[in-house]
Amino acid sequence: MNPVFMSLLLFFSLSLFIGTMADRYWLLRAGEFSFRHDRVADRLRSLLGVGFGQKRLLYEKGAGWMHVGIFAGFLVVSLRTVTLLGRGFDTGYNLPFMDGPLGLFYALLKDTFAVLVIVAILYGIWRRLVIRPARLHLSLEAVLILLWIAILMVTDLVGDAAGLRLDPHHRERGWAWASTALSPLFAGSTESAAGVWVQAMFWSHCVLVLAFLNFLPFGKHFHVLTGLPAVYLRRMTPSAALEKMDFEGKEVFGVGKLEDFSWHRFLDMYTCTECGRCNDQCPANVTGKPLAPREIITNERDEAYRLASHLIQVGKWKAEGRDELAAAAIADCERPALIGEVNDVEAIWACTTCGWCVSHCPVVIDHIPNIIDQRRYLTMMEAKVPSVLQNALKGLENNSNPWNVSAAAREDWIGDLEVPRLRDKGSSEYLLFVGCAGSFDDRNSDVTRAFCRLLNKAGVDYAVLGTEEGCCGDPTRRVGNEYLFQMQAQQNIAAFQKYSVKKIITACPHGFNMILNEYPDFGLEGVEVVHHTELLAELVADGRLKLKAAAQAKVTFHDSCYLGRHNDIYEAPRKVLGSIEGIQQVELDRSRREGFCCGAGGGRMFMEEDLGTRINHERINEVAGTGAAEVCTACPFCLTMLGDAIKETDRQEQLQARDLAEILLENLAD
Ligand code: SF4
Ligand code: SF4
Repeated sequence: MNPVFMSLLLFFSLSLFIGTMADRYWLLRAGEFSFRHDRVADRLRSLLGVGFGQKRLLYEKGAGWMHVGIFAGFLVVSLRTVTLLGRGFDTGYNLPFMDGPLGLFYALLKDTFAVLVIVAILYGIWRRLVIRPARLHLSLEAVLILLWIAILMVTDLVGDAAGLRLDPHHRERGWAWASTALSPLFAGSTESAAGVWVQAMFWSHCVLVLAFLNFLPFGKHFHVLTGLPAVYLRRMTPSAALEKMDFEGKEVFGVGKLEDFSWHRFLDMYTCTECGRCNDQCPANVTGKPLAPREIITNERDEAYRLASHLIQVGKWKAEGRDELAAAAIADCERPALIGEVNDVEAIWACTTCGWCVSHCPVVIDHIPNIIDQRRYLTMMEAKVPSVLQNALKGLENNSNPWNVSAAAREDWIGDLEVPRLRDKGSSEYLLFVGCAGSFDDRNSDVTRAFCRLLNKAGVDYAVLGTEEGCCGDPTRRVGNEYLFQMQAQQNIAAFQKYSVKKIITACPHGFNMILNEYPDFGLEGVEVVHHTELLAELVADGRLKLKAAAQAKVTFHDSCYLGRHNDIYEAPRKVLGSIEGIQQVELDRSRREGFCCGAGGGRMFMEEDLGTRINHERINEVAGTGAAEVCTACPFCLTMLGDAIKETDRQEQLQARDLAEILLENLAD
């Protein structure tokens, strides 16, 4: 076509692009560096499923499928784009193997996907301009990008259609079915007019595609380039497992400035598509708190771009190991406070760590560690915790429980019930890890007693640690006191090791999550952790707990975030309820993976909720809407929150909240 022009075009556009990407790279290196190179096979699986397979979008008809269509089309058509760039140098250029049958098949595929992309884009524009889903901002950039992609498809199809006028017997005629269908448009054209069309479409396509490439790093469509690397480099640990903090040699604990983040957080910022899926059912956002997970990411990203020249320099110094220069530049850089100005302090404390955001983000952005790192800074560096939380923290420090009840009272719940202690028994098949709520909270110690009665009835060999047990550390860690949490974890692990514990049961999903997913970072090995719903399901299935028919009742199950979304246990409690004759299970609209938080996770159980409406009220209204007479829980925090909501909304007459163990105990055959 025109090798000189194509060379110049490629030289200038690629130079510009490489320069921009280098800046983005150095900016990212301003963060703390660590490379995730473990579990390569799992990473590749995730890249195939979540990245190329767009798994998280397939859940969602409409917008999700539209995105999948555009993404797939983009991948298919990009081969064509490479071919066209090559034809700038040699008119007959083709990619290897494309001169044979594979080329014909590709022509068919390419035209099909080009049309699919155009249809998906028309739907996308209509959705943004006419339907206007609440979670989306009306963004000119988004509409411009959609039009840009559509024009790329059109230039390709029209260029090929004009080409068929010049070469009516081209071997791709028919295979490239959309271009063939458009070719009659040029039937009356002279050869020279058709030639002008071919040239115009060719150069428009090449210029637009290279301009598009250069535009991407400046907006939310940067995810087109960063999405797949971000998915590959994602955190592979369970969603609720926080990263272990190393105190050795550190002066800053947590994140108080952008440069304290790991570089993965910068990659998250680059990758956010601003789709708003994370905001959609964020309990804090839905109930009017100042927290919107999307805005946490985009506020930080906007601030990073505002400080780009500083961060790029810091990134270069850190990469060269010139840490003193970097530290001096960081200290001298005047900027708005990350916590307080870039992010609202109330937003940082409003998170319940429910995991809605991280599990629904199509590009696996990790909001929870981002937020917790800022809490760590507030708690450990600045000692700025909400005043109501201070008593809980004092209790955790002095008595290893957030109720601040004397540690000596940890086994008072046992009373005259027959519950073996490990210190007497020496060993048992299971350790029952009771947890703070099950030990100190009146309503939840009823649940612990009910569960022990079931264990006794089924003849399970178990024992408790009693006063040798301490808080699992969930609230401590989630409100940012990592130092205290690590001590709590180590004390519990030492107690487990003292009695060579091999299996642990707990009725608390928070304790379950800590012991299963977080304690291994502190040396716990070879211990099976079972939630009480799983054990109860097993005991019922094995006939070790025999049931009688219950009075007819409509019951709904509320999924605890730490049991369901974070640990994927959805069926066990439903199976137990399903095995009680007379109970009619009804599902909440928001259930299983879509379950809605009770409002107590992330240490929120011990904070006031004085902004917006109450999360537990939102949930109990939904429960009441099912017509159920009872809401079954499998988490002490959920039980407290829903029980309180029933009282506060005056529903004691028609609704009650009970743990699965209590319902089961009531329906045991004699
Ligand atoms: S974890 Fe839950 S509460 Fe926290 S930001 Fe995400 S969706 Fe909101
Ligand atoms: S963080 Fe994820 S879910 Fe939230 S707006 Fe960005 S891409 Fe969408």
